[in-house]
Amino acid sequence: MTLLSIIGFQLIVLFYNEENVRISYYSFVIALILMPVSRLVLGKASTFLMRIIGSLYLLVIAAFLIRGVTALLSSTDSISFYTPGLYQLISLLSIYLLTNLGNLGFVLLMKEKADHELIRLASYDDLTGTLNRRTFTEKANKYLTDYSKKGQPLSYLLFDIDNFKTINDTYGHHVGDQVLQDLTTRIKLHLGKEDLFVRYGGDEFGILIPGKDETDSNQMAEQIIQTLNGAISRSLPMTYTISLGVLTVFPNQYTQLETLYTTCDEALYNAKSNGRNGVFRGQIDVHNAVS
Ligand code: GH3
Ligand code: MG
Repeated sequence: MTLLSIIGFQLIVLFYNEENVRISYYSFVIALILMPVSRLVLGKASTFLMRIIGSLYLLVIAAFLIRGVTALLSSTDSISFYTPGLYQLISLLSIYLLTNLGNLGFVLLMKEKADHELIRLASYDDLTGTLNRRTFTEKANKYLTDYSKKGQPLSYLLFDIDNFKTINDTYGHHVGDQVLQDLTTRIKLHLGKEDLFVRYGGDEFGILIPGKDETDSNQMAEQIIQTLNGAISRSLPMTYTISLGVLTVFPNQYTQLETLYTTCDEALYNAKSNGRNGVFRGQIDVHNAVS
């Protein structure tokens, strides 16, 4: 746009140096920002702030289009920037708005982008891209409240890689990291949009699946075990397995996430004791859930 503006302007100065043509030309060139601005206003991922700033830019564009057309149709006197009147008012206001949007609007948009990035960094685990414990707890508690009101079940899966220390010791820590990434990538393929996937730390992960009963969660647990069992990744020198505890609960107002975790942790312990690479269903103690 800058190049087009400079080249076009110089051509006008050389071959047709009329003030109204110059004004009209640069007004139309400025109106070309309609292309990026329409993305700002109509983009699917646009935020409220982006739409507000985009809409203000649309006002500027409209003003410059009016200015461009008026300049073409008028005599040089009436469109002089220095003659008081409606034309001068529109010109000054649009230039003022354009300058402020270019400065303040840009800074606000950059701040919004930086804020989103900070929230993302504070919510997810770096290595695997799963939720971190704090964000998971926040979202899971909201599900517990919502589903106790709806009277619908929630299922919870807690799992841990089998003999992960041996993998680290045998192949090195970086291969251990790759296993963690491989595991999460495979499991994510089986998750719905509403499901919450958390890395508690080390090789321990949890999944909260809202609205799923015993049958659904058994199926999901088996699916996950099968996906990993014997799966050979091109990037990994060996196979690996997990043990999994699973639990289904119809939450009420007293149901604590902590109770779900401890009960499922016991189930996971049983799955490990049963020889690993398997699922064990936990049963929530009614006295624990309603206390
Ligand atoms: P079990 O079958 O009983 O679970 O045995 P295990 O060897 O997997 O034992 P445990 O789950 O306690 O081992 C967790 C290991 O995970 C210990 C720690 O060295 C390793 N670890 C924790 N965080 C990371 C990580 O980010 N990357 C890698 N590569 N290893 C990690
Ligand atoms: Mg383990």
